[in-house]
Amino acid sequence: MARVLFVNAGSEGHINPTVGVVQELISRGEEVVYFSIEAFRERMEKTGASVRTFDDQKFIKAFISGGRNYLLERVNGLLLTADIVIPSVLEQIKGEHFDYIIHDSMFGCGRLLAQILKLPAISSCTTFAQTKAEFDSMLEELHKDVPIEILDPITGQFQSLTAMLKEKYDVEIDSPYEVFCNPAPLTIVYTTKEFQPDGETFDETYKFTGPSISSRFTQTSFDLAAIKGENPVYISLGTVFNRAIDFYKLCLEAFRNTGHKIIMAIGNKTVISDLGEIPENFIVKNYVPQTDILQYTKLFITHGGMNSAHEGLYFGVPLIVIPQSADQPIIAGQVAALGAGIQLQMKSLTASQLRGAVDHVSSLTCYQKAAKSLGDSFRKSGGYHQAADEIFAFKIRYQI
Ligand code: UDP
Repeated sequence: MARVLFVNAGSEGHINPTVGVVQELISRGEEVVYFSIEAFRERMEKTGASVRTFDDQKFIKAFISGGRNYLLERVNGLLLTADIVIPSVLEQIKGEHFDYIIHDSMFGCGRLLAQILKLPAISSCTTFAQTKAEFDSMLEELHKDVPIEILDPITGQFQSLTAMLKEKYDVEIDSPYEVFCNPAPLTIVYTTKEFQPDGETFDETYKFTGPSISSRFTQTSFDLAAIKGENPVYISLGTVFNRAIDFYKLCLEAFRNTGHKIIMAIGNKTVISDLGEIPENFIVKNYVPQTDILQYTKLFITHGGMNSAHEGLYFGVPLIVIPQSADQPIIAGQVAALGAGIQLQMKSLTASQLRGAVDHVSSLTCYQKAAKSLGDSFRKSGGYHQAADEIFAFKIRYQI
């Protein structure tokens, strides 16, 4: 069978949906070499992939050095990671043959590596997909009020970085879109057309396979037996934008001495003891096995990361979405538009508003019904099985 080069430098949300895909590909006979960062070695090795890594500290430093205030600065940050990722991957695969590449749609310079290695490419998209027209109009909108003296040097840096990379690696980079979205002849999008905004506008190169939810092979010490039958509310802001001690304290205030059982995952950037006394009806951890917990949860208060929203809805759990950054406001909007939850704003949030929102959403069956119906449609769409089917159909088209 074929040898697959998988390149994915992303955070946990970019990695998790690929776990089931890689496992499925391997079970169908493919050999997968997976490039990522050291933190995900164990998780990916358990799929049966051969894992190789690049330096995560250097990668993050390069990405951040592009700047974080404007979208084009982030594009530049991605270009700045090329000199960390590309030489490391090329060095570690020297003399090896691969039949095709699967790369993350954002992190890891996948489109560039596909060009350098002249491999048929598949993009792995763990967020909503974007067409070039949509991305370009978003970029224009975001930059329209930015003073020229700020925008000019950022645009200048984009041009000099692309020129440098073209010269160094003999690659074509025609637009910021190519850097930010890494389009490929096949893009696997881990959501449904129904959940994707303007799902009908995407051509046949985009395959909406539904959320890819599988066992993560991670060891956590969470006692699931203790929450069975308790119908807890689960609170998490994900793994990236989760440094939010005031929000966690607000949750303690909102639900202390109420009839709600609360599980709160606060991430690894906040120390539990900094929250003060933890009320009896709370379980507070830095990290929990989220997909296991959601199976017992009545309501999920989430930042609206793509994976968290998918996972909650997959198990029919209504959401209260409090977006923090990135694409989360769009996801929050979709959840609310489809009736599977409501959206709150972090800035003005009070404890009584949050408590009222939980009472409201958990008492009305319409939210549960909508969440369950979306969950059913997610399950029907096939997830990682469907993704593997699409990859195998791609192999036939490319005579691999
Ligand atoms: N996650 C988890 N336990 C936690 C926090 C997060 O298993 O305590 C997982 C969660 O199931 C999801 C991923 O981390 O798959 C977070 O991805 P998401 O896209 O929701 O948000 P991000 O972390 O990228 O902001």
